[in-house]
Amino acid sequence: MKKRVFSGFRPTGKQHIGNYLGTIQNCVSLQEEYDCIYCVVDIHALTTLENTDALQEDIHEMVLDWLAAGIDPEKSILFVQSHVPQVMELHTLFGMVTPLSWLLRVPTFKEKVKMQPRNVNYGLVGYPVLMTADIALYKGEVVPVGEDQLPHLELAREIVRRFNSLFGRVFPEPAAKLTSFPLISGLDGTNKMSKSYNNYIEIASPPKEILERVMTAVTDPARRYRSDPGHPEICGIFSLHKFFTAERADEIASDCRSAKIGCVDCKKLLAGNIASNLEPFREKRAALAAKPNYITEVLADGAARAEVIARETMGEVKQKMKLL
Ligand code: SF4
Repeated sequence: MKKRVFSGFRPTGKQHIGNYLGTIQNCVSLQEEYDCIYCVVDIHALTTLENTDALQEDIHEMVLDWLAAGIDPEKSILFVQSHVPQVMELHTLFGMVTPLSWLLRVPTFKEKVKMQPRNVNYGLVGYPVLMTADIALYKGEVVPVGEDQLPHLELAREIVRRFNSLFGRVFPEPAAKLTSFPLISGLDGTNKMSKSYNNYIEIASPPKEILERVMTAVTDPARRYRSDPGHPEICGIFSLHKFFTAERADEIASDCRSAKIGCVDCKKLLAGNIASNLEPFREKRAALAAKPNYITEVLADGAARAEVIARETMGEVKQKMKLL
């Protein structure tokens, strides 16, 4: 029997190349080896969102990208967190077994307090408890994480362990599947690709827009003139060539170092390769977008399948806790 993977993602609207080369491709490939549950964590998003006007559109666009990129709703359960309300119930019950001191020492809580001092809401403190409830409700056994998320998963394991020792075993301790996501630099040349820095290329962009975005990218600052030799290892354009022009990456690096190729031509080559590489994705996206109610139906089916597991788990939890 396949192990069950659980992974949650904040709704961030249309996805960019950094999302695609990291998280999305990883999730697509995990479907072969595991039973995967992928959850759009809209409640988590509320801990930092003060305006929810775009929330539904962000969920829709993100799910459309994920499906077009290869998440298969026949193989995997894809749903929205709040559509299965049992997670809020388990969150409350886990809150009773989680010492406050465990939550106050979480580094990301301290960071969030600094980032949004005017909105230090309870949800920021309880975030790891809700995250644990997300995983445990579906008895997630494996959670793909980057190294920076390991402390969160360790806390989830501690909460689950404490519940099991107090009331009897209900939950597996979720194991980390340490995943090294490629660090995709943004078009500004200083930060990783992110919507927050407006330095991204959306994977759904048409070729013309991809070209326009790529042409704005910062390259090696040492190349002030066409004849200046470059340093591809510090250039974000080159880091993207490694994915989209993989078979010619060595040649491009060498041509950059010897100034045989200029940045304008190098960018045009990249933009063309990104556009052609993503063409099947864009076609599938357009086809799915043309189906009326498709996303709503996929998410409703995912929530119904997730809720079957959730109801069963909550029955066990309540019996163990003598709530039934
Ligand atoms: Fe970057 Fe290409 Fe310019 Fe070299 S030639 S600095 S790899 S854009």
